[in-house]
Amino acid sequence: MCSNRGLRIVMYHYVRDLQHSRYPAIKGLDVSLFRQQLEFFKENFNVITMEQLIDSVQTGSNLPDNAILLTFDDGYIDNYTYALPLLEEFQMQGSFFIPGKTFKEHKLLDVNKIHFILASADINKLVVDLKCKMDFYRGAGNEYAPTDELYKEYAVANRFDNKDTIFVKRILQNVLPENIRNLISSELFEKYVGVSEEKFAHELYMTKEQIHTLKRHGMYIGVHGYDHYWLGKLDTKQMHKDIDEALDSLEGIVDRNKWIINYPYGNYSDEVIEYARNNGAVLGLSTEVRAANFETDNVYALPRFDCNDFPPKSDNYIKEEV
Ligand SMILES: [Zn+2]
Repeated sequence: MCSNRGLRIVMYHYVRDLQHSRYPAIKGLDVSLFRQQLEFFKENFNVITMEQLIDSVQTGSNLPDNAILLTFDDGYIDNYTYALPLLEEFQMQGSFFIPGKTFKEHKLLDVNKIHFILASADINKLVVDLKCKMDFYRGAGNEYAPTDELYKEYAVANRFDNKDTIFVKRILQNVLPENIRNLISSELFEKYVGVSEEKFAHELYMTKEQIHTLKRHGMYIGVHGYDHYWLGKLDTKQMHKDIDEALDSLEGIVDRNKWIINYPYGNYSDEVIEYARNNGAVLGLSTEVRAANFETDNVYALPRFDCNDFPPKSDNYIKEEV
């Protein structure tokens, strides 16, 4: 088998000066480690552009040996402040996937409310609080399973988070009905973070002008939904609406005939892929953790490593599956 059609895709979220930030506990990559990582890539890999990848998928052209692609999710302003200058210094392209809601409405996404609640609260107190609120809001048309049952089902540790952290994330990401989880997330955000959500959103996300600037500097911009939903769990109409709104929000930035979808939370279904493909998407990115292989992989669900899977954090990238 031809080895140079293999590719490693790296996923970044927050890249910031963690020690000097207000939330040092946020799970991000410190900018000094980001620099070391780019040095490692320069020595050991060939960082490709998204245009090279699209060309390879569409024409069958080979990628360079040890090809690697850098992707950044969620449109954080720290990507602009810290990652962009280093990418330029190393002459590497990053691909940025930005939910429409962040720069169009300047509203805080649920995923970020949850991250900063977790970075600010004592986890034991938080779980007690959350369970209390789940019991308080149950009923009156808001039906969901008993709290203890949900805890048993969802409090399951993964490779990055302990079981209580996963419980908080899952319950507030998609287990409770949307109106209830929004309400509870906002209450917990106010209690533990204590900053207005609107101000916080302005400090957290890139503006549309900054997104244009990324593009002018040779970076690639792609689609990451509008509201950052679990697309595979939405009903058909909502899923179509979210993708349509995401494309509308990036009008003039993304080519509607040739765009890339990066599924929030790595969550998709055959129906999501079909809708994206029928509307001009040429590739899709998931969060399955391994190297990609074009001979065998569905190009609408390409796997990605986390930045923590590479030095200076770890050598997990060497394993086929993590
Ligand atoms: Zn995301």
